[in-house]
Amino acid sequence: MPMNVQPIPNVSDRINEIRMQTARILNNEVLPNENRLWAWRRDGKVAEEDRQAARTLRHDIQTKVKQAGLWAPHLPEEYGGSDLSFLEHAYMNEVLAYCVGAASLFGVVAPNSGNQKILLKYGTEEQKQKWLVPLTEGKMQSGFSMTEPDNAGSDPRSIKTTARKDGDSWVINGHKWFTSNGKAADFLIVMCRTDDPDGPAEANGKMTQIIVPTDTPGVNVIRGVEVWGRDSDHCEILYDDVRVPLANQLGRTGSGHQAAQDRLGAGRVYHCMNSVGQMWRAFDLMVERAATREVHGGLLHTKQFVQGFIADSYIDIQAARLMTIHCAERMDSGLDARTEISAIKIFVPEAYHRVVDRAIQVWGAAGVSGDLPLAGMYQGARTLRLADGPDEVHKILIAKNVLKQYAAGESWDFGN
Ligand SMILES: Cc1cc2nc3c(=O)[nH]c(=O)nc-3n(C[C@H](O)[C@H](O)[C@H](O)COP(=O)(O)OP(=O)(O)OC[C@H]3O[C@@H](n4cnc5c(N)ncnc54)[C@H](O)[C@@H]3O)c2cc1C
Repeated sequence: MPMNVQPIPNVSDRINEIRMQTARILNNEVLPNENRLWAWRRDGKVAEEDRQAARTLRHDIQTKVKQAGLWAPHLPEEYGGSDLSFLEHAYMNEVLAYCVGAASLFGVVAPNSGNQKILLKYGTEEQKQKWLVPLTEGKMQSGFSMTEPDNAGSDPRSIKTTARKDGDSWVINGHKWFTSNGKAADFLIVMCRTDDPDGPAEANGKMTQIIVPTDTPGVNVIRGVEVWGRDSDHCEILYDDVRVPLANQLGRTGSGHQAAQDRLGAGRVYHCMNSVGQMWRAFDLMVERAATREVHGGLLHTKQFVQGFIADSYIDIQAARLMTIHCAERMDSGLDARTEISAIKIFVPEAYHRVVDRAIQVWGAAGVSGDLPLAGMYQGARTLRLADGPDEVHKILIAKNVLKQYAAGESWDFGN
Protein backbone atom coordinates (compact mmCIF):
# COMPACT_ATOMS: atom_id res chain seq x y z
CA MET A 1 0.00 0.00 0.00
CA PRO A 2 1.45 3.46 -0.88
CA MET A 3 2.10 6.10 1.76
CA ASN A 4 -0.98 8.30 2.05
CA VAL A 5 0.24 11.91 1.93
CA GLN A 6 -2.33 14.66 1.36
CA PRO A 7 -1.88 18.45 1.58
CA ILE A 8 -1.89 19.87 5.13
CA PRO A 9 -4.33 22.81 5.49
CA ASN A 10 -2.26 25.14 7.70
CA VAL A 11 1.25 24.99 6.22
CA SER A 12 2.77 26.87 3.29
CA ASP A 13 2.09 25.82 -0.30
CA ARG A 14 5.80 25.14 -0.68
CA ILE A 15 5.84 22.66 2.22
CA ASN A 16 2.86 20.84 0.72
CA GLU A 17 4.49 20.79 -2.69
CA ILE A 18 7.70 19.30 -1.23
CA ARG A 19 5.81 16.64 0.73
CA MET A 20 3.69 15.66 -2.27
CA GLN A 21 6.67 15.52 -4.65
CA THR A 22 8.68 13.46 -2.16
CA ALA A 23 5.75 11.07 -1.67
CA ARG A 24 5.35 10.70 -5.45
CA ILE A 25 8.99 9.61 -5.85
CA LEU A 26 8.76 7.39 -2.80
CA ASN A 27 5.54 5.66 -3.88
CA ASN A 28 6.40 5.31 -7.57
CA GLU A 29 10.14 4.68 -7.51
CA VAL A 30 11.37 3.60 -4.09
CA LEU A 31 8.69 1.44 -2.41
CA PRO A 32 8.07 -0.89 -5.39
CA ASN A 33 11.84 -1.48 -5.63
CA GLU A 34 12.64 -1.59 -1.91
CA ASN A 35 13.98 -5.14 -1.84
CA ARG A 36 15.99 -4.76 -5.04
CA LEU A 37 17.50 -1.44 -3.90
CA TRP A 38 18.75 -2.65 -0.52
CA ALA A 39 18.78 -6.47 -0.48
CA TRP A 40 22.53 -6.60 -1.07
CA ARG A 41 23.16 -4.89 2.24
CA ARG A 42 21.40 -7.58 4.20
CA ASP A 43 22.93 -10.92 3.28
CA GLY A 44 25.85 -9.97 1.03
CA LYS A 45 24.97 -12.90 -1.25
CA VAL A 46 23.62 -10.99 -4.20
CA ALA A 47 25.01 -11.77 -7.66
CA GLU A 48 27.16 -9.11 -9.29
CA GLU A 49 24.54 -8.43 -11.99
CA ASP A 50 21.87 -7.75 -9.33
CA ARG A 51 24.32 -5.51 -7.51
CA GLN A 52 24.93 -3.59 -10.72
CA ALA A 53 21.18 -3.40 -11.40
CA ALA A 54 20.67 -1.96 -7.90
CA ARG A 55 23.37 0.66 -8.55
CA THR A 56 21.70 1.65 -11.83
CA LEU A 57 18.32 1.82 -10.13
CA ARG A 58 19.66 4.03 -7.36
CA HIS A 59 21.34 6.29 -9.90
CA ASP A 60 18.09 6.61 -11.91
CA ILE A 61 16.11 7.53 -8.81
CA GLN A 62 18.76 10.05 -7.77
CA THR A 63 18.49 11.66 -11.21
CA LYS A 64 14.72 11.98 -10.78
CA VAL A 65 15.22 13.49 -7.32
CA LYS A 66 17.60 16.08 -8.79
CA GLN A 67 15.15 16.87 -11.60
CA ALA A 68 12.45 17.42 -8.95
CA GLY A 69 14.76 19.91 -7.18
CA LEU A 70 14.90 17.85 -3.99
CA TRP A 71 18.57 16.79 -3.93
CA ALA A 72 20.50 17.58 -0.71
CA PRO A 73 17.66 19.56 0.90
CA HIS A 74 19.95 20.68 3.76
CA LEU A 75 22.38 22.60 1.52
CA PRO A 76 22.20 25.85 -0.46
CA GLU A 77 22.12 25.73 -4.25
CA GLU A 78 25.65 27.14 -4.61
CA TYR A 79 26.98 24.00 -2.90
CA GLY A 80 24.85 21.57 -4.88
CA GLY A 81 21.75 21.43 -2.67
CA SER A 82 18.12 22.43 -3.12
CA ASP A 83 18.16 25.05 -0.37
CA LEU A 84 15.11 24.02 1.65
CA SER A 85 14.28 26.05 4.73
CA PHE A 86 14.51 24.37 8.12
CA LEU A 87 10.73 23.75 8.32
CA GLU A 88 10.49 22.58 4.71
CA HIS A 89 13.25 20.06 5.36
CA ALA A 90 11.69 18.89 8.63
CA TYR A 91 8.31 18.27 6.96
CA MET A 92 10.03 16.50 4.06
CA ASN A 93 11.75 14.07 6.43
CA GLU A 94 8.57 12.48 7.77
CA VAL A 95 7.75 11.44 4.19
CA LEU A 96 11.28 10.50 3.21
CA ALA A 97 11.85 8.29 6.27
CA TYR A 98 8.80 6.13 5.48
CA CYS A 99 11.16 3.96 3.47
CA VAL A 100 14.35 3.09 5.38
CA GLY A 101 17.38 4.14 3.32
CA ALA A 102 15.48 6.49 0.98
CA ALA A 103 17.28 9.52 2.39
CA SER A 104 20.48 8.44 0.65
CA LEU A 105 18.62 8.63 -2.67
CA PHE A 106 17.89 12.28 -1.83
CA GLY A 107 21.51 13.11 -0.96
CA VAL A 108 21.10 13.17 2.83
CA VAL A 109 23.25 10.57 4.55
CA ALA A 110 24.56 10.73 8.11
CA PRO A 111 27.27 11.47 9.10
CA ASN A 112 28.01 13.27 5.81
CA SER A 113 24.95 15.53 6.15
CA GLY A 114 25.99 16.75 9.63
CA ASN A 115 29.55 17.33 8.41
CA GLN A 116 28.23 19.27 5.42
CA LYS A 117 26.34 21.59 7.76
CA ILE A 118 29.45 22.13 9.90
CA LEU A 119 31.60 22.82 6.84
CA LEU A 120 28.98 25.24 5.57
CA LYS A 121 28.84 27.20 8.81
CA TYR A 122 32.45 27.03 10.03
CA GLY A 123 34.50 26.24 6.91
CA THR A 124 36.56 28.74 4.94
CA GLU A 125 35.78 29.03 1.23
CA GLU A 126 38.86 26.92 0.51
CA GLN A 127 37.71 24.20 2.92
CA LYS A 128 34.25 24.24 1.35
CA GLN A 129 35.65 23.75 -2.14
CA LYS A 130 38.04 21.03 -0.99
CA TRP A 131 35.72 19.00 1.26
CA LEU A 132 32.10 20.13 1.07
CA VAL A 133 31.63 20.18 -2.71
CA PRO A 134 33.03 16.64 -3.33
CA LEU A 135 30.98 15.37 -0.38
CA THR A 136 27.78 16.72 -1.94
CA GLU A 137 28.71 15.38 -5.36
CA GLY A 138 29.17 11.92 -3.80
CA LYS A 139 32.86 11.84 -4.71
CA MET A 140 33.97 11.69 -1.07
CA GLN A 141 32.83 10.12 2.20
CA SER A 142 33.34 11.45 5.73
CA GLY A 143 33.01 10.69 9.43
CA PHE A 144 32.61 12.60 12.68
CA SER A 145 35.02 11.44 15.37
CA MET A 146 34.07 12.62 18.84
CA THR A 147 33.19 9.74 21.19
CA GLU A 148 36.03 8.03 23.11
CA PRO A 149 35.98 4.58 24.71
CA ASP A 150 37.58 5.76 27.95
CA ASN A 151 35.50 8.89 28.52
CA ALA A 152 31.77 9.58 28.77
CA GLY A 153 30.33 10.50 25.40
CA SER A 154 27.32 11.92 27.22
CA ASP A 155 29.64 14.54 28.72
CA PRO A 156 31.59 15.88 25.72
CA ARG A 157 33.72 18.05 28.02
CA SER A 158 35.45 14.86 29.18
CA ILE A 159 37.18 14.35 25.82
CA LYS A 160 40.93 13.69 26.12
CA THR A 161 42.12 13.66 22.47
CA THR A 162 44.64 16.47 22.07
CA ALA A 163 45.87 18.63 19.21
CA ARG A 164 49.23 20.30 19.83
CA LYS A 165 50.45 23.15 17.67
CA ASP A 166 53.84 22.42 16.10
CA GLY A 167 55.06 24.92 13.45
CA ASP A 168 52.37 25.10 10.81
CA SER A 169 50.75 21.80 11.83
CA TRP A 170 48.36 20.37 14.38
CA VAL A 171 49.63 17.09 15.88
CA ILE A 172 46.73 14.94 17.08
CA ASN A 173 46.84 12.09 19.62
CA GLY A 174 43.85 10.21 20.94
CA HIS A 175 41.60 7.20 20.93
CA LYS A 176 38.06 7.35 19.50
CA TRP A 177 35.32 4.87 18.78
CA PHE A 178 31.92 4.71 17.16
CA THR A 179 33.15 6.96 14.37
CA SER A 180 30.41 6.09 11.88
CA ASN A 181 31.43 5.58 8.24
CA GLY A 182 35.02 5.25 9.48
CA LYS A 183 36.10 2.64 6.92
CA ALA A 184 34.64 4.42 3.91
CA ALA A 185 35.59 7.95 4.96
CA ASP A 186 38.09 10.02 2.97
CA PHE A 187 38.26 12.51 5.83
CA LEU A 188 37.16 12.75 9.44
CA ILE A 189 36.16 15.77 11.45
CA VAL A 190 37.93 15.08 14.74
CA MET A 191 36.99 16.70 18.02
CA CYS A 192 40.21 17.65 19.86
CA ARG A 193 41.30 19.56 22.90
CA THR A 194 43.60 22.18 21.37
CA ASP A 195 46.81 23.37 22.92
CA ASP A 196 47.76 26.59 21.12
CA PRO A 197 50.40 28.81 22.77
CA ASP A 198 49.51 31.63 20.35
CA GLY A 199 45.74 31.26 20.75
CA PRO A 200 43.45 33.27 23.02
CA ALA A 201 44.02 32.11 26.63
CA GLU A 202 40.31 31.50 27.27
CA ALA A 203 40.09 29.16 24.27
CA ASN A 204 43.14 27.09 25.10
CA GLY A 205 42.47 23.56 26.22
CA LYS A 206 38.96 23.91 24.82
CA MET A 207 37.57 21.84 22.00
CA THR A 208 38.24 22.47 18.34
CA GLN A 209 37.19 20.46 15.29
CA ILE A 210 39.95 19.56 12.86
CA ILE A 211 39.67 17.98 9.41
CA VAL A 212 41.84 14.87 9.12
CA PRO A 213 42.22 13.03 5.78
CA THR A 214 42.09 9.30 6.56
CA ASP A 215 45.25 8.58 4.55
CA THR A 216 47.32 10.76 6.91
CA PRO A 217 50.09 8.70 8.61
CA GLY A 218 49.08 7.84 12.18
CA VAL A 219 45.33 7.41 11.50
CA ASN A 220 44.82 3.78 12.52
CA VAL A 221 41.33 2.40 11.92
CA ILE A 222 41.51 -0.56 14.30
CA ARG A 223 38.10 -2.14 13.62
CA GLY A 224 34.47 -1.61 12.86
CA VAL A 225 32.83 -2.21 16.24
CA GLU A 226 30.26 -5.00 16.05
CA VAL A 227 26.79 -3.53 16.63
CA TRP A 228 23.64 -5.59 17.30
CA GLY A 229 25.64 -8.73 16.50
CA ARG A 230 26.77 -7.56 13.07
CA ASP A 231 29.87 -6.01 11.53
CA SER A 232 29.57 -2.28 11.30
CA ASP A 233 31.27 0.79 9.95
CA HIS A 234 31.19 2.46 13.40
CA CYS A 235 34.94 2.45 13.87
CA GLU A 236 37.48 2.41 16.66
CA ILE A 237 40.35 4.70 15.62
CA LEU A 238 43.73 5.48 17.17
CA TYR A 239 45.23 8.86 16.29
CA ASP A 240 48.97 8.51 16.78
CA ASP A 241 50.95 11.72 16.16
CA VAL A 242 48.68 12.60 13.26
CA ARG A 243 50.04 15.74 11.60
CA VAL A 244 47.72 17.97 9.55
CA PRO A 245 48.11 21.60 8.38
CA LEU A 246 46.81 24.34 10.69
CA ALA A 247 44.55 25.28 7.78
CA ASN A 248 42.51 22.13 8.52
CA GLN A 249 41.10 23.68 11.67
CA LEU A 250 37.36 24.36 11.42
CA GLY A 251 36.30 27.72 12.85
CA ARG A 252 38.24 29.51 15.55
CA THR A 253 40.17 27.70 18.31
CA GLY A 254 37.80 26.61 21.07
CA SER A 255 34.63 26.69 18.93
CA GLY A 256 34.33 22.88 18.70
CA HIS A 257 31.75 22.43 21.43
CA GLN A 258 29.48 25.10 19.96
CA ALA A 259 29.87 23.56 16.49
CA ALA A 260 28.84 20.16 17.90
CA GLN A 261 25.78 21.74 19.53
CA ASP A 262 24.84 23.41 16.22
CA ARG A 263 25.09 20.04 14.55
CA LEU A 264 22.83 18.43 17.11
CA GLY A 265 20.12 21.10 17.61
CA ALA A 266 18.50 21.13 14.16
CA GLY A 267 19.67 17.54 13.66
CA ARG A 268 17.50 16.35 16.54
CA VAL A 269 14.38 17.78 14.91
CA TYR A 270 15.30 16.09 11.63
CA HIS A 271 15.97 12.79 13.44
CA CYS A 272 12.61 13.00 15.21
CA MET A 273 10.76 13.69 11.96
CA ASN A 274 12.60 10.66 10.54
CA SER A 275 11.36 8.60 13.47
CA VAL A 276 7.82 9.86 12.82
CA GLY A 277 8.09 8.70 9.18
CA GLN A 278 9.31 5.29 10.30
CA MET A 279 6.54 4.97 12.90
CA TRP A 280 4.07 5.83 10.13
CA ARG A 281 5.42 2.91 8.06
CA ALA A 282 5.38 0.52 11.02
CA PHE A 283 1.80 1.56 11.75
CA ASP A 284 0.69 0.96 8.14
CA LEU A 285 2.37 -2.45 8.14
CA MET A 286 0.72 -3.37 11.44
CA VAL A 287 -2.78 -2.33 10.37
CA GLU A 288 -2.46 -4.05 6.99
CA ARG A 289 -1.41 -7.28 8.65
CA ALA A 290 -4.15 -7.05 11.28
CA ALA A 291 -6.73 -6.73 8.50
CA THR A 292 -5.57 -9.83 6.61
CA ARG A 293 -4.13 -12.37 9.07
CA GLU A 294 -6.54 -14.90 10.43
CA VAL A 295 -5.83 -16.36 13.90
CA HIS A 296 -8.01 -18.46 16.19
CA GLY A 297 -11.08 -18.18 14.00
CA GLY A 298 -10.99 -14.47 13.17
CA LEU A 299 -8.96 -11.70 11.61
CA LEU A 300 -6.42 -10.10 13.93
CA HIS A 301 -8.13 -6.72 13.76
CA THR A 302 -11.25 -8.18 15.37
CA LYS A 303 -9.27 -8.95 18.55
CA GLN A 304 -9.38 -6.26 21.21
CA PHE A 305 -5.70 -6.73 22.11
CA VAL A 306 -4.83 -5.72 18.55
CA GLN A 307 -7.34 -2.86 18.51
CA GLY A 308 -5.56 -1.63 21.64
CA PHE A 309 -2.24 -1.75 19.77
CA ILE A 310 -3.73 0.29 16.92
CA ALA A 311 -5.14 2.94 19.29
CA ASP A 312 -1.95 3.17 21.39
CA SER A 313 0.25 3.50 18.29
CA TYR A 314 -2.05 6.13 16.79
CA ILE A 315 -1.72 8.15 20.01
CA ASP A 316 2.07 7.69 20.13
CA ILE A 317 2.53 8.86 16.55
CA GLN A 318 0.24 11.87 16.84
CA ALA A 319 1.86 12.97 20.10
CA ALA A 320 5.40 12.50 18.77
CA ARG A 321 4.63 14.32 15.53
CA LEU A 322 2.88 17.30 17.11
CA MET A 323 5.58 17.71 19.77
CA THR A 324 8.25 17.70 17.06
CA ILE A 325 6.40 20.18 14.86
CA HIS A 326 5.85 22.46 17.86
CA CYS A 327 9.58 22.35 18.60
CA ALA A 328 10.47 22.96 14.93
CA GLU A 329 8.13 25.95 14.75
CA ARG A 330 9.69 27.49 17.85
CA MET A 331 13.17 27.04 16.38
CA ASP A 332 12.03 28.46 13.05
CA SER A 333 10.65 31.55 14.82
CA GLY A 334 14.01 32.09 16.52
CA LEU A 335 12.60 31.28 19.98
CA ASP A 336 14.55 29.39 22.63
CA ALA A 337 13.66 25.72 22.06
CA ARG A 338 16.20 23.97 24.28
CA THR A 339 13.56 22.43 26.57
CA GLU A 340 11.44 21.33 23.60
CA ILE A 341 14.46 19.80 21.84
CA SER A 342 15.32 17.75 24.93
CA ALA A 343 11.67 16.71 25.30
CA ILE A 344 11.39 15.37 21.74
CA LYS A 345 14.82 13.75 21.99
CA ILE A 346 13.42 11.64 24.86
CA PHE A 347 9.80 11.15 23.87
CA VAL A 348 10.04 10.43 20.16
CA PRO A 349 12.56 7.53 20.24
CA GLU A 350 10.58 5.96 23.13
CA ALA A 351 7.32 6.29 21.16
CA TYR A 352 9.06 4.95 18.05
CA HIS A 353 10.30 1.97 20.07
CA ARG A 354 6.76 1.21 21.33
CA VAL A 355 5.15 1.57 17.88
CA VAL A 356 7.65 -0.74 16.18
CA ASP A 357 7.45 -3.21 19.06
CA ARG A 358 3.67 -3.54 18.59
CA ALA A 359 4.03 -3.92 14.82
CA ILE A 360 6.56 -6.73 15.34
CA GLN A 361 4.20 -8.46 17.78
CA VAL A 362 1.33 -8.37 15.28
CA TRP A 363 3.53 -9.78 12.51
CA GLY A 364 4.85 -12.60 14.72
CA ALA A 365 8.00 -14.30 13.41
CA ALA A 366 7.89 -12.30 10.18
CA GLY A 367 8.24 -9.17 12.31
CA VAL A 368 11.80 -10.02 13.32
CA SER A 369 12.75 -11.41 9.90
CA GLY A 370 14.81 -9.64 7.26
CA ASP A 371 11.77 -9.64 4.93
CA LEU A 372 10.33 -6.56 6.61
CA PRO A 373 12.01 -3.32 7.72
CA LEU A 374 10.70 -3.70 11.30
CA ALA A 375 13.71 -5.47 12.87
CA GLY A 376 16.09 -2.77 11.63
CA MET A 377 13.72 -0.06 12.83
CA TYR A 378 13.53 -1.66 16.29
CA GLN A 379 17.30 -1.64 16.64
CA GLY A 380 17.45 1.91 15.32
CA ALA A 381 14.83 3.10 17.81
CA ARG A 382 16.67 1.51 20.74
CA THR A 383 19.98 3.02 19.66
CA LEU A 384 18.46 6.50 19.37
CA ARG A 385 17.75 6.48 23.11
CA LEU A 386 21.44 6.57 23.93
CA ALA A 387 23.01 8.29 20.91
CA ASP A 388 22.97 12.08 20.49
CA GLY A 389 22.80 12.56 24.26
CA PRO A 390 21.19 9.82 26.38
CA ASP A 391 17.65 10.28 27.79
CA GLU A 392 18.88 10.97 31.33
CA VAL A 393 21.01 13.94 30.23
CA HIS A 394 18.02 15.49 28.48
CA LYS A 395 15.75 14.92 31.48
CA ILE A 396 18.23 16.81 33.64
CA LEU A 397 18.19 19.67 31.13
CA ILE A 398 14.39 19.86 31.03
CA ALA A 399 14.16 19.94 34.82
CA LYS A 400 16.91 22.56 35.03
CA ASN A 401 15.14 24.87 32.54
CA VAL A 402 11.75 24.46 34.23
CA LEU A 403 13.12 24.99 37.74
CA LYS A 404 15.05 28.08 36.63
CA GLN A 405 11.87 29.67 35.35
CA TYR A 406 9.95 28.96 38.57
CA ALA A 407 12.89 30.23 40.64
CA ALA A 408 12.64 33.49 38.65
CA GLY A 409 9.00 33.79 39.79
CA GLU A 410 7.36 32.64 36.56
CA SER A 411 5.45 29.41 35.96
CA TRP A 412 5.65 27.39 32.69
CA ASP A 413 3.52 28.58 29.76
CA PHE A 414 2.36 25.44 27.95
CA GLY A 415 0.48 27.57 25.41
CA ASN A 416 3.69 28.61 23.71
C1 LIG B 1 25.21 3.28 16.23
C2 LIG B 1 25.98 4.41 16.86
C3 LIG B 1 26.59 5.36 16.04
C4 LIG B 1 27.35 6.37 16.61
N1 LIG B 1 27.99 7.27 15.78
C5 LIG B 1 28.84 8.16 16.31
C6 LIG B 1 29.65 9.00 15.46
O1 LIG B 1 29.55 8.96 14.23
N2 LIG B 1 30.56 9.83 16.03
C7 LIG B 1 30.72 9.91 17.38
O2 LIG B 1 31.55 10.67 17.83
N3 LIG B 1 29.94 9.14 18.23
C8 LIG B 1 29.03 8.27 17.73
N4 LIG B 1 28.29 7.45 18.57
C9 LIG B 1 28.50 7.53 20.00
C10 LIG B 1 27.33 8.16 20.76
O3 LIG B 1 27.23 9.53 20.45
C11 LIG B 1 27.60 7.91 22.25
O4 LIG B 1 27.45 6.53 22.46
C12 LIG B 1 26.66 8.67 23.16
O5 LIG B 1 26.97 10.03 23.15
C13 LIG B 1 26.76 8.15 24.61
O6 LIG B 1 28.10 8.15 25.05
P1 LIG B 1 28.74 6.83 25.73
O7 LIG B 1 28.44 5.67 24.86
O8 LIG B 1 30.15 7.13 26.06
O9 LIG B 1 27.89 6.61 27.06
P2 LIG B 1 28.19 7.23 28.51
O10 LIG B 1 28.47 8.67 28.40
O11 LIG B 1 29.19 6.37 29.21
O12 LIG B 1 26.77 7.06 29.18
C14 LIG B 1 26.27 5.74 29.50
C15 LIG B 1 24.93 5.86 30.16
O13 LIG B 1 25.04 6.56 31.37
C16 LIG B 1 23.81 7.18 31.68
N5 LIG B 1 24.04 8.59 32.03
C17 LIG B 1 24.86 9.46 31.41
N6 LIG B 1 24.82 10.67 32.03
C18 LIG B 1 23.98 10.52 33.07
C19 LIG B 1 23.52 11.41 34.10
N7 LIG B 1 23.95 12.66 34.18
N8 LIG B 1 22.65 10.93 35.02
C20 LIG B 1 22.20 9.64 34.95
N9 LIG B 1 22.60 8.77 34.00
C21 LIG B 1 23.46 9.20 33.08
C22 LIG B 1 22.92 7.05 30.44
O14 LIG B 1 21.96 6.02 30.65
C23 LIG B 1 23.89 6.65 29.37
O15 LIG B 1 23.28 5.88 28.34
C24 LIG B 1 27.48 6.46 18.02
C25 LIG B 1 26.84 5.52 18.83
C26 LIG B 1 26.10 4.50 18.27
C27 LIG B 1 25.44 3.49 19.17
